Amino acid sequence: MKLNEQDEATATAATLLIDGAWREAASGQTFASLNPADERVIGHVSAGDARDVDAAVAAARAAFEERRWLSLPPPQRARILHAVADRIEMELDTLAENEVRENGMPLTMARATIGGGAQAFRYFAGWIGKIHGQTGEMAQGEQYFGYTLKEPVGVAALIVPWNGPFMMACHKLAPALAAGCTTVLKPAEDTSLNTLNLVRIVLDAGVPAGVVNLVTGLGSVAGAALVAHPDVDKVSFTGSTPVGRQIVQAAAGNFKRVTLELGGKSPVIVLDDADLALAVPAVLNGIMANSGQACVAGSRLYAQRGIYDRLIAAVAEAAGKLVIGDGLSAGTQMGPVISAKQFERVMGYIEGGVAEGAELVSGGKRRGETGFFIEPTIFSHAPHDATVMREEIFGPVLSATPFDDLGWAIAQANDTRYGLAGAVYTRSLEKAHTVARAVRAGNLWINCYSVQDFSLPFGGYKESGWGRERGAMGLEAFMENKSVVARLY
Ligand code: NAP
Ligand code: MG
Repeated sequence: MKLNEQDEATATAATLLIDGAWREAASGQTFASLNPADERVIGHVSAGDARDVDAAVAAARAAFEERRWLSLPPPQRARILHAVADRIEMELDTLAENEVRENGMPLTMARATIGGGAQAFRYFAGWIGKIHGQTGEMAQGEQYFGYTLKEPVGVAALIVPWNGPFMMACHKLAPALAAGCTTVLKPAEDTSLNTLNLVRIVLDAGVPAGVVNLVTGLGSVAGAALVAHPDVDKVSFTGSTPVGRQIVQAAAGNFKRVTLELGGKSPVIVLDDADLALAVPAVLNGIMANSGQACVAGSRLYAQRGIYDRLIAAVAEAAGKLVIGDGLSAGTQMGPVISAKQFERVMGYIEGGVAEGAELVSGGKRRGETGFFIEPTIFSHAPHDATVMREEIFGPVLSATPFDDLGWAIAQANDTRYGLAGAVYTRSLEKAHTVARAVRAGNLWINCYSVQDFSLPFGGYKESGWGRERGAMGLEAFMENKSVVARLY
């Protein structure tokens, strides 16, 4: 399905996939999905509720109990996941355009993130057939034989946000399937439609009916029903810290396994000896990529006094040159934010920053009259206790402050309830690794930003989350370990 081909009259909204069949929500209700660049309706989404969640969980449970997926030989499962990747790559042009219409990101970024979604399937396909437990000597002696089995955790609820919708659905679905789970996917209400394409591709590639189910709907209704469901074994969530907290509470009912990728307020430390030509674009891109709507966004900048003025001037100049527009227009480097709600929220933070005494050196205004465009915004000399320095804005807003002593900067960097990411720019190996050790965050970059790989675990310290995605740890998060002991004689 190509977005924009629907209009109100032809909207079908059979956007739920349960046990291999597309259907409308039990409520019969739908909501519109908007293009954030022009505020036009691009399609309609069914508003699933607890009844649909019940049906989807029942389908996933049946598929799990019948071992519809796990009973396929590992080479066949691996081949199917590779086929998912192949099909994503074959449809990349359309999928990327859809992603832009739904999310607003520039086309280059949409192509890269959707390509990254395909890579997730390839990476985790490679694990299938290589998952094994362990054995060893037992204290009781040779009369007993002990070994462990790694088994899928069961039915996994995958809850995805709107800031990288297709990619993040892949990042959850691929390890869940590699581990042998069956799943219920809940996309964000603002970005549900392209997920239909992913689920179609997964089915067409040969994943059996019931193994991947899709329930669209509001987070407070469909999402809440899913995370509280007694027959869901595991929740993998990416989104806001407040909703993460609600999920932990809802999961307590049956002690669901929970992994959470939550927010951040990631510090970026630039030392006097940094390579300015390298640091300027990296600092800028670290916050402005995807209009600041990235969990790892480097939103707090601490720059040493000797480089501070030059750095801020250069970052502000480069920010002023960013081409803002519809992500489908050639040359666009920054699109709109996702929704009117996020637009109001981000503009509120910008007004708050000015009111709290931060010096606005660049941007700060809406761009155009249609679409949710916000200028790349830079605050200088932001007071440490200013809201823009403390809260996750999730918009194109960088707040900077100078420092003299590296120890002070590290203390400021750590004075946050978040711990998702951070970066340091310096030519000194000693200082780079000192900062890398000292900053309490799950991801730390030296002289670069947001360079990620499937081989490396991804996740947060403190209130930035629980657990890790990607790598062996990402797979482990969808598995249980069983110890088996046999008496031999
Ligand atoms: P959110 O509410 O946390 O949404 C994330 C996902 O959770 C969506 O699929 C959402 O569905 C669903 N959800 C919402 N309430 C739920 C509940 N009670 N139980 C289960 N699932 C639920 O995030 P948001 O409201 O879209 O964005 C608000 C802020 O969250 C942003 O400004 C940003 O600070 C943060 N955020 C962080 C990330 C990240 O990558 N860490 C991503 C997105 C947002 P609906 O979309 O239907 O509500
Ligand atoms: Mg929400």
